[in-house]
Amino acid sequence: MAEKRIRQIAIYGKGGIGKSTTTQNLTAGLVEAGKKVMVVGCDPKADSTRLLLGGLAQKTVLDTLRLEGEDIELSAILKEGYGGTKCVESGGPEPGVGCAGRGIITSIGLLERLGAYTEDLDYVFYDVLGDVVCGGFAMPIREGKAKEIYIVASGEMMALYAANNISRGIRKYAQKGEVRLGGIICNSRNVDREIELLRAFAKELGTKLIHYIPRDNVVQRAEIHKKTVINYEPDSKQADEYRELARKVEENRDFSIPTPMTQERLEEILFEFGLMDDLVDYKI
Ligand code: ADP
Ligand code: MG
Repeated sequence: MAEKRIRQIAIYGKGGIGKSTTTQNLTAGLVEAGKKVMVVGCDPKADSTRLLLGGLAQKTVLDTLRLEGEDIELSAILKEGYGGTKCVESGGPEPGVGCAGRGIITSIGLLERLGAYTEDLDYVFYDVLGDVVCGGFAMPIREGKAKEIYIVASGEMMALYAANNISRGIRKYAQKGEVRLGGIICNSRNVDREIELLRAFAKELGTKLIHYIPRDNVVQRAEIHKKTVINYEPDSKQADEYRELARKVEENRDFSIPTPMTQERLEEILFEFGLMDDLVDYKI
C-alpha cells in the first residue's frame, strides 16, 4: 500500500478577511467526516485555534520557549480541541521586536523535532496572516511543507488586491517547487455580484472559486460562545456551507501555478463589476 501523505495546506488572505474563522469551521467539517487534523496558527494574534479549543488560553510556542526554555514536551505547545483536532499557536515576538514571521519558523521546526506530524494525520492547516507572502510568512510553503494553498478573499477591493499580491509570492515558490494554489474561498461581504466577480478574478488568476461562504450572524453568535458554527449550531444552513467547503477541499484535485494580474488588469475587472465607478478620478 502506498504511504499515506498528510495534506499540508496553507490558508492566506488579508487580515480580518475570515481566515481563522473559515479554517476552524473547515477543520470542524473535516473532523465530522472522520479526518484527523492539526491546525497551526501562524499569526502573532494567536487566535487561529480559539473556536476549536473553546477559548482555552493556548500558550504560544514563542511564549512557551521564552518561559520554559528549549527543553519542552510536545504537550506544552499542542492542545487537543474539538473532535480531537491538534491545535498549535506560533505566536509572535514582543510587539516591535524582530520579524513577526519568526514564530512560524521556530514552531514548524519544533513541531517536527517533537514528532507532531504523526502518520495518522490527514491534514495540517497553516493559518497565515498577511497581504503579501514574504519572510517568515512564506515559511509554510517554503521547502515543500505545505504544498497546497487557498486564499480567502471577498468582493471588496482591498481583499482582491491582497489576494493578487499573495499570488505573486505563491507563484515565485510554485515555480521553484511543488507548491500549488488550490483555489479562492470567497468569504462574503455582501458585495453586489460577488460570486461572479470572484469567479472572474479566480479565472484570471488561473484558478477557481472553490466555495462561496455567505455572511451570516450565526458566525458571531458561535464566536461569542467560543465555538465553530458546526459545533454551536450543527443544523444551521451556515454549518452546511462549511461542510460543503470541507467536501470540496477533500475532493479537490485541481492545483495550479497562479498567474497574478497587473494592477491595471485588476482595476479593469473591478471596473467591469462596478467596484470602481470613479476609475478616472481614482487614477488622477
Ligand atoms: P482573519 O483570521 O482573516 O484575520 P477572522 O477569521 O478573525 O479573520 O474573522 C474576522 C471577523 O469576521 C471574525 O470576528 C468573525 O466573526 C467575522 N466573520 C468571518 N467570517 C464570517 C462570516 N462568514 N459571516 C459573518 N462573520 C464572519
Ligand atoms: Mg486570524
